[in-house]
Amino acid sequence: MTSMDAAILEALLDEQHPRKLEASTWATENLRDPDLVERDASCTFWFEGWQKLAAAGHLGLIADSEYGGGGMSLIDALLTYEGLGHGCTDDGLIFACTSQALTMQLTLERFGTEVQRKDWLPALIAGEAFGAFAMSEPESGSDAFSLTTTATPVDGGWRLDGTKTWVTLGPIADVIIVFATTDRALGRWGITTFVVPADTPGLTIGPNMAKMGMRTTPFSTVTFDGCAVPDEARMGAVGAGASIFSAAMEPERGFLLVGNLGALERVIDTTVEYARTRQQFDTPIGAFQGVSHAIAEAKLGHEAARLLLYKAAALQQRGTPSMLVAAMSKLASSEAALKGALTSIDVHGARGYVTEFEVERDLRNAAGGVIYGGASGIQKNIIARLLGLPT
Ligand SMILES: Cc1cc2nc3c(=O)[nH]c(=O)nc-3n(C[C@H](O)[C@H](O)[C@H](O)COP(=O)(O)OP(=O)(O)OC[C@H]3O[C@@H](n4cnc5c(N)ncnc54)[C@H](O)[C@@H]3O)c2cc1C
Repeated sequence: MTSMDAAILEALLDEQHPRKLEASTWATENLRDPDLVERDASCTFWFEGWQKLAAAGHLGLIADSEYGGGGMSLIDALLTYEGLGHGCTDDGLIFACTSQALTMQLTLERFGTEVQRKDWLPALIAGEAFGAFAMSEPESGSDAFSLTTTATPVDGGWRLDGTKTWVTLGPIADVIIVFATTDRALGRWGITTFVVPADTPGLTIGPNMAKMGMRTTPFSTVTFDGCAVPDEARMGAVGAGASIFSAAMEPERGFLLVGNLGALERVIDTTVEYARTRQQFDTPIGAFQGVSHAIAEAKLGHEAARLLLYKAAALQQRGTPSMLVAAMSKLASSEAALKGALTSIDVHGARGYVTEFEVERDLRNAAGGVIYGGASGIQKNIIARLLGLPT
């Protein structure tokens, strides 16, 4: 067995892996915000928490040390993010962190030019800049390659026109990875990727949109109206945008929900504790089978999703195709987090429903997981297609 295989096995088998526990303990001690309920209500991002994540190196765990990253293995980074999700009750903060690190930064590091990497990665990792990834549009969601934002060649560069939406960290972004079509007739082969500073004239960021959950992660529209960028803003070849997007989706699909899995474990811990202590009919409610079996199912969902996530990581780290497992990982994590959070509300009764007890927020935070990173229906399509079913 190689040392990499041993590390993967340890991550799979040891739910209380030391690296995960260390991150969870750090988050519990450093990322407890007494104002979280108010910030959640007002959709306010926690800049101080972000700076703490940056100072601890959590914003660049897997990035190369040349750009200020930690150069950590994927498995170790995921164990850390899982621990952060477990220890930090501001799920939106951890979602913002994993979203920037696993989707935006990783894409920049893999496909950006050396200048783009040097311009942005050190600042992103140090918490001095925010990065966003803009693919979705009002009329193109699951059918991502039907996007209509255009990139028109102009002297020495490109003019971008169109509107992106649901852009995580959009309202505070300093740099945005943008996908646009240079030739709609070519369909997906006409899509090109750009790295655009948010202060470029012609780029307008919309206001932070209030949403059901993950309310502490800001998101918004980003509109391009005659936004001129030099050719040096291009990432990859003209027409390579769909390939870059697909490559970016593998880690997003496989691992973006890692923080939610940590949070689900916290939800289960809290629910077990409540069911052990809350008495009705002179009996702890956890002794009623209707309650205990629901919690057992939540644990089953959590464990199965966790095994799939680390299997997807193991395959990616080995360079083995992982699309099927990554789609199953995304589906299992998001659905387990949602179902587990609903069980928690049920077990907590009215206390689960009332804001001050901070149980209902877990359900709202979990709901978005079945949408972003590719909705559940799309993950099922991928699984069906890879099984050889006609789609
Ligand atoms: C919290 C959050 C953060 C996000 N962050 C970003 C971001 O940073 N950048 C970005 O670009 N986007 C982001 N998104 C957008 C996200 O990627 C899209 O919402 C997602 O791809 C789904 O697109 P849609 O919302 O248009 O839904 P639609 O595509 O309209 O889908 C609606 C429903 O129809 C189903 N459906 C659609 N097509 C099929 C099909 N062929 N087969 C079966 N079912 C189907 C879907 O499963 C879903 O249930 C974010 C979304 C959320 C909620």
